[in-house]
Amino acid sequence: MRNKKIKTFYTDKQVCFDSIKEKSFSQSPLKPALLIEKIKNGPYSELLDITADFEPIAKEDFEIAHSKEYIENVFNKTGNYASNGLPWSENLAKSLPYTSGSLYAASKFAIENPDFLCFAPISGMHHARPTAGSGFCTFSGQVIAAVKIYEQYGKSCAYLDLDGHYGNSIEDTRRFNPLLNIAIPEGCNYNPSGRNESYLASFKTNLSDLATHILADRIHYVVFAHGADSHDQDDLGGSLNTENWVKCAEIFAEWVNEISIKKNQPLPVVLALFGGYRKDNYEAVLNLHIKSLISCSNIICGNNFEDKLEIAEKIR
Ligand SMILES: [Zn+2]
Repeated sequence: MRNKKIKTFYTDKQVCFDSIKEKSFSQSPLKPALLIEKIKNGPYSELLDITADFEPIAKEDFEIAHSKEYIENVFNKTGNYASNGLPWSENLAKSLPYTSGSLYAASKFAIENPDFLCFAPISGMHHARPTAGSGFCTFSGQVIAAVKIYEQYGKSCAYLDLDGHYGNSIEDTRRFNPLLNIAIPEGCNYNPSGRNESYLASFKTNLSDLATHILADRIHYVVFAHGADSHDQDDLGGSLNTENWVKCAEIFAEWVNEISIKKNQPLPVVLALFGGYRKDNYEAVLNLHIKSLISCSNIICGNNFEDKLEIAEKIR
């Protein structure tokens, strides 16, 4: 039986409050705070059990996925520090060890306590490369967290990356750090494609492929990154209408339950945020993420939250 609340690894220290609202196309560095505040102060406050009790990753840990030169550039505002496409600030630099720290802590907790559904409210990772940032992503937190977990526990991970964009970080880092080939094996960074029905079919094919890896004990935990920019009203996305976007969370959650029964133990699961960029209505981005959390909580944790959230049509 799963714990009723989603164990959430969140601290204000993982948020960049400086210059994002005014100067950044991507609001993602601010999104964890906006989302957590909205959940805490609204009708779904019982969804999450939030802990800030986790460590930032050490500066050397960034070397798991990045060159020393690039890491120094980001922290010292030199060279290609702006390759992430975000306005640099000390606050941004200081938040980065905590975003990767949140994902690492959630992954570690999920492995040690598989009866908890875990949540790392993080974005801005899956386009980063060993020597540069890209597409609002600075460091490859998912590579760093997965390799650290592999080194510590010998456990391998799969990514179900439902962001609207292909998560290139993992493939782009395989040569830089070959340990990644065991931490997130080849073929286990899933990015469904297509639109609406064909997207759902692609996702289901991904899940049945992943099930074979899990049942063969090649994959031990899963990260579900339900990016809101795969929603068709997003400024940078557009594969799924609201019904089908939410359906992905339901399909995922039901699959988690099925695979847990087959394995006779709860599959360790970490939820993450990734993209979402609506300028006309950022509440819609937050509401999509909350809808996904509600579906996962109801189906995996056996809750009965009523999803009353509306996703407004985009003003074009
Ligand atoms: Zn994206």
